[in-house]
Amino acid sequence: MALSKQDVFARAARGDLKAPQLIPGFQGNDDGLENRTPIDNSVIGSLGDGGKAEIDAAVKVARVCFEAGTWRKRSPGERKAAMLAWCDLLQEHAEELAALDCIDAGKPIDECENTDIPATIDTLRWYAEAADKVYGRIAPTGPNATGLIVKEPVGVVGAVLPWNFPAQMYAWKVGPALVTGNSVIVKPAELTPLSAVRMTELAREAGIPAEALIVVNGLGEHAGEALGRHMDVDVVSFTGSTDVGRLFLKYSAESNVKQIVLECGGKNPQVVFADADIDAVVSDILNAAFWNMSENCSCGSRLLVANEIKDALLEKLVAGLGDWKLGDPRESGVRLGPMVEGPHFEKVKGFLESAKADGLHAVTGGNVRGDYLSGWYVEPTVYTDVAPHTRLFREEVFGPLLAVTGFASEEEAIRLANDTSYGLAASVYTENVHRAQRVASAIRAGTVSVNGFSEGDITTPFGGYKQSGFGGRDNGLEALDQYQETKTIWYVNRAGK
Ligand code: NAD
Repeated sequence: MALSKQDVFARAARGDLKAPQLIPGFQGNDDGLENRTPIDNSVIGSLGDGGKAEIDAAVKVARVCFEAGTWRKRSPGERKAAMLAWCDLLQEHAEELAALDCIDAGKPIDECENTDIPATIDTLRWYAEAADKVYGRIAPTGPNATGLIVKEPVGVVGAVLPWNFPAQMYAWKVGPALVTGNSVIVKPAELTPLSAVRMTELAREAGIPAEALIVVNGLGEHAGEALGRHMDVDVVSFTGSTDVGRLFLKYSAESNVKQIVLECGGKNPQVVFADADIDAVVSDILNAAFWNMSENCSCGSRLLVANEIKDALLEKLVAGLGDWKLGDPRESGVRLGPMVEGPHFEKVKGFLESAKADGLHAVTGGNVRGDYLSGWYVEPTVYTDVAPHTRLFREEVFGPLLAVTGFASEEEAIRLANDTSYGLAASVYTENVHRAQRVASAIRAGTVSVNGFSEGDITTPFGGYKQSGFGGRDNGLEALDQYQETKTIWYVNRAGK
């Protein structure tokens, strides 16, 4: 039965939200870790404390399922039907799933209900629909042979998820990995396991084999590392920090050279030229900078603005922030909740301190709300005249601190935009279409939006250049490539046969 958000919040208050292991045939280790909500740091339930034993058990059943073809050998139409039935169930449970992400990650309930969960279901539907619409090619090999270029599922896939968009990141990985016939082992972030577990339970109800979609809960350094080092996992698709992404490359190199796909962090520029329609772009700039408490890989955390309009734009940004209510994310109307956990809050606080040490001026914000609920709440903050050598300009904060830097020419704007080790996303605001084209081409990033902030949508590939990404793309039909091998089959035509 689907729960209402009040039911979910009441269960959380009783400490009764459970995220066990979902590994067929494996008993135990379901509640070794405490799960707390960042809203007020209270215990809301428990999650499994998986490690090597759990990953071994999961890979074993996933492999048997793959070899037996329990899921892989279903026709594309059958896989599509099962996944669409699953999406119908997810839709029935949309309110419950939204509340789970809200309580687990401290995300505003309005966002979870209106954006995250609808996008999660749309993603899974889109990939379900792709099942019987994407197919192979025949090479132009001439009359003596026929070369078929076919795609095959890779086998056992590990999907390692971050905590900032728990349900959506699950869908970005599981949708394309499952529809192509693989067995998928999901390792949710230990801070936010709830929606992944619930969605997987619903997949089973919809008829997707339990052995084809498994969840192993546990700490990154236990369950995550065991998955990364397992000799019988074919691909790990990882979304998270660049530092942990680097570890997965190491795990792969030291084990079976499994394929690794990394979707990592960003320090994304928003470039505003003097001819931009300032009134029209203020809300996009603020969304890019502060949406999801800036706990967003494509957060537009560096605002590069033409010197002649800088002051006018700053004034409008500060006025626009009046609509950004900070508070308890369970309440409708709140747009900024807490940082996801105490250590992350401390890290963000460290950026406030280093900004002070660098002599940066906050035109608004600059304070934490240590007195409020968990105490992990940070005011949206805008620093001006941020020099490129400062930490604030260079490092991903993952908290609501916007660095504003002026520029004098298009050339300088492009140089500043590219002055980063990351390359995930960027926005360019200008009314000049030629400039828009020049600058969008010159910025080294996987997604560039002109006159808006967008990560694109499920139809467009998403991923990073430089240290923001490696090995593939999420979303779009491109994501299917992460989870498929390409095989060539030659039929040689023998004369007279
Ligand atoms: P994280 O790297 O700390 O954790 C991500 C996952 O890796 C978690 O499941 C965690 O348990 C696991 N992990 C942690 N340490 C591990 C280890 N030693 N070995 C194996 N696994 C380990 O990232 P996070 O803090 O959950 O998420 C924030 C980061 O994710 C940010 O840098 C953000 O930019 C990035 N992100 C990127 C995208 C994208 O699509 N590019 C999307 C969302 C988030």
